[in-house]
Amino acid sequence: MTTPDQGSPDIGHARYTYRLRVSSTARTGLEAEWARCRWVWNECVAMSRKVHALNRDAAEKTTCGPAQLDKMLTEARTAMGWLREGSSVPQQQAIRDFGKSRAKALKDVTVVWSRELSTALSSVRVYQDAVGHWYGSFVVAAPAQPLPETGAVLGVDWGVKETATTTSDAHNLPHPQHGRNTAQRLACYQRMTARRKPAKGQAASRGYRQARKQTAKLHKKVARQRQDTARKWAKRVVRDHDAIAVEDFRPRFLAKTTMARKAADAAIGATKRALIEMARKHGRDIRLVHPAHTTMDCATCGARTKHALPLAERTYTCTACGASSPRDKNSARVMLVRAGLDPAGAEGVRPPGPLVREAA
Ligand SMILES: [Zn+2]
Repeated sequence: MTTPDQGSPDIGHARYTYRLRVSSTARTGLEAEWARCRWVWNECVAMSRKVHALNRDAAEKTTCGPAQLDKMLTEARTAMGWLREGSSVPQQQAIRDFGKSRAKALKDVTVVWSRELSTALSSVRVYQDAVGHWYGSFVVAAPAQPLPETGAVLGVDWGVKETATTTSDAHNLPHPQHGRNTAQRLACYQRMTARRKPAKGQAASRGYRQARKQTAKLHKKVARQRQDTARKWAKRVVRDHDAIAVEDFRPRFLAKTTMARKAADAAIGATKRALIEMARKHGRDIRLVHPAHTTMDCATCGARTKHALPLAERTYTCTACGASSPRDKNSARVMLVRAGLDPAGAEGVRPPGPLVREAA
């Protein structure tokens, strides 16, 4: 089975991910490699904490960048034979991943190692997911597959009730209910996990580990369904339009939000990724529009309301020109205007200026 990765590959490249069925010998090898990388990771964490503690009261600040971490790794590999038994590539990768994760304030790492290959494959990554399955993932050169011109353009606005509201009624995407159907089961597993949680210092019970695994499995299922829906929709949108203006939505997972809001965020994230990937694959013009004020501007005359519309207000009525349209439709049209794709080219509309960037 092949599934292009969720990340956005470079233009002209596609990432393929395969589930690996590993023999027990291979598994032992992978687990040993993983243990070495985990050790390096933990050393990075410890070193970074130590430096933070030192810097707290020191006048002269010590740095803990990639150079210091590389030096630490070299010394550790010299001193410890078991660490030297593993390849240095994954261990250096662990350091790089650590730097990246710290920049993004993430806590866990999934990539075990990358290996550069000289052929058409540029790298292979092997990793284990929360369910315990192993995967191999590699990038290959993928020539663009141009589609026939359609003469049509599309504006896309993201939302909670409808994942995508577009300027074409035939291309709206209602919020898929995968989350809701599984939400109850998920809540049940989460309660089970909480009940079985081991006391501090005690080993996790079999029941606890099982409940955690079930939760991870369910999450995975929802993610897969979400991606499937996203790809099918993206394919249709890209087939029917030459140029697409889309809100450059940033997920707000970190904000304190409801379950529904989180599910919507995840659906939008997956859909946006699928759309960008699909548009690039087929050589379509995709433009990301900065999300600021897109719900406050009038798509007809460009006037901006003084206050943000309350969320309950579903109709946008412009006080300047009197135009009235469903709120999300107006926003979808604002995307087109901002991206410079509005076929009507209405006068008085704010210039696209720095609010638009090409999806590079
Ligand atoms: Zn107006």
